Amino acid sequence: MASEKTQAIVLKVVEFSETSCVLTLFTEHFGKVGALAKGARRPKGPFEGALDLLALVRIVFLRKSSEALDLLTEAKLQRRFRSAQRELSRLYAGYYVAELLSELTDNGDPHPELFALADETLLALDCGRSVAPAVLRFEVLALRLLGHLPSLDECVGCGQSIPDEPRTAFGLVAGGVLCARCRPGQRQVVSITAGGLAALKRFAAVNGDCETLTLDDKVRGELRGVWNNYLAHLIGHKPRMHEYLSVAAK
Ligand SMILES: [Zn+2]
Repeated sequence: MASEKTQAIVLKVVEFSETSCVLTLFTEHFGKVGALAKGARRPKGPFEGALDLLALVRIVFLRKSSEALDLLTEAKLQRRFRSAQRELSRLYAGYYVAELLSELTDNGDPHPELFALADETLLALDCGRSVAPAVLRFEVLALRLLGHLPSLDECVGCGQSIPDEPRTAFGLVAGGVLCARCRPGQRQVVSITAGGLAALKRFAAVNGDCETLTLDDKVRGELRGVWNNYLAHLIGHKPRMHEYLSVAAK
């Protein structure tokens, strides 16, 4: 068994026995990992309260070769997600980041850039940045990193650039915008306003800080609808946190 060190975000904690927990961790170098933390539930256990949901931790774990759970041997808290005590909308947004990481990645498939994006997003949410732009930025850039970003400029059917129109057809199954010729016969097509499409392009193009990204309420509502449908289609079911986001993420 190899002993590995890395940073990780705690995505899920499930009680396993009187004293132990099973964790889902999104690690910087090994992707998503399922690990057993023995003694984690003991008051003076070996992990000293480091294993809170959405916490950033530095860990040491033993990798198991088969389907068995890895074994967590050390966890040092680097940053707790404090919004849990402050504002429900930030907590929900944090849970949603964890849910997407969990749903969109496979165990043991490393995505260091996605780890950095998630870390940055949780920090932004915890530092009081606007929730809706931070969430949309995470969704768009996470999908881009994973190769699932829908086509926003060119028709996903024929590759032609889409002219500026008040409304553009967006194929949830096809995976992007559709021109008038390619639209007929497509399943699950929604229409997106010029403002909504421009906002998506703006979020997809940006590489810098999310501080400069803003989202007005009307566009936010529209994109939430389109995005919820697109992600539900991609994942295969409706993400659990979507209903909370629509209410809370302003
Ligand atoms: Zn076309």
